[in-house]
Amino acid sequence: MNDIFVTRPSVPCFEEYCDEIKELWDSMWLTNNGAKHRLFEKQLKEYLNTPNVTLFTNGHLALENILEAMNFPKGAEIITTPFTFASTTHAIVRCRLTPVFCDIKPDDYTIDESKIEALITDKTCAILPVHVYGNVCSVEAIQELAYRHSLKVIYDAAHSFGVTYKGVSTANFGDAAMFSFHATKVFNTIEGGAVCYSDEALSQTLKDIKNFGIHGPEHTLYSGGNAKMNELQAAMGICNLRYIDEEIAKREAVDYRYRELLSDIGGIKLNPVQRDVKPNCAYFPVVFDGYKFTRDEVHDMLKAENIFTRKYFYPLTNEFECYKDSSFADAGKTPIAKHISDRILCLPMYADLALEDVERICRIILNRG
Ligand SMILES: *Cc1c(COP(=O)(O)O)cnc(C)c1O
Repeated sequence: MNDIFVTRPSVPCFEEYCDEIKELWDSMWLTNNGAKHRLFEKQLKEYLNTPNVTLFTNGHLALENILEAMNFPKGAEIITTPFTFASTTHAIVRCRLTPVFCDIKPDDYTIDESKIEALITDKTCAILPVHVYGNVCSVEAIQELAYRHSLKVIYDAAHSFGVTYKGVSTANFGDAAMFSFHATKVFNTIEGGAVCYSDEALSQTLKDIKNFGIHGPEHTLYSGGNAKMNELQAAMGICNLRYIDEEIAKREAVDYRYRELLSDIGGIKLNPVQRDVKPNCAYFPVVFDGYKFTRDEVHDMLKAENIFTRKYFYPLTNEFECYKDSSFADAGKTPIAKHISDRILCLPMYADLALEDVERICRIILNRG
């Protein structure tokens, strides 16, 4: 039996990619806002139906750069969730801001908007929620709260490429939304990322910050880093964007089969189907709570068959060793996130996962020979 990993990147056919990058060998323009970069940015604006998009070498730097561009005072507080990938919390800390952790909702694992207000202080400057697994946060309630308290909202939308809520892409909620185009995501540019934002004035700032803060040949305005997307990444994006609908449709078939086999089983909770949301089936998280096997037992049973699942997101970011001496790191303050984190397992999910493999995975989980 072949090894089955939790995910597998989707790639265009080899010749198609070679065709796309051929011009680069003629132009010898490999990075710094080249023709592929400009075309890909334009295509993304159309696909996401959003006015402002800036591309980055990866999603993490997109998040750091938008936080930097918003120019919050040093030590300002950002209300966020610990039930996420390391990147979300690290971006806040690396920008010398302070994360304040809000608990999540037990149904869709996104930030619990009813618990945000109690965490707001005179230092709070923004809310940074995560559309975790592609589940859409309570965007309307969060926006209302942000208006009332004059806070910015920046979404970590890394998981939600292709997701819409009431027909609107997650690129368009909040002041900004970050996407990751890492190889393991629904849509990839090998590595890559983007930030979408409502204030057009941020466009020049982001362009400068991601290129060492250089505004012009004789003018350097910020102590920026280097976070530019190169032409080979953009070319990959142009190719993969042609197949995004097909990619999501194939994932839907996998998701459908899993649900047929795992629905209505005591102690097994599947990811919710959210109202008004067109999902992207980025992940297949399952919570084992009161099931005959624990999450760790299911993980190990599958591993024994060379099926590699991931305990996403365990541990919580407020349990990381690197934050153990920080005042904000206290998983006791986010008990629901802790409860879910101890019980959740992401099963293999990718476009080309064979339905027979889904059936085999479910047989193992259900212990039916
Ligand atoms: C993947 C991911 C990121 C970081 O994206 P990269 O492109 O890998 O830098 C940030 N947040 C979340 C929730 C992610 O899953």
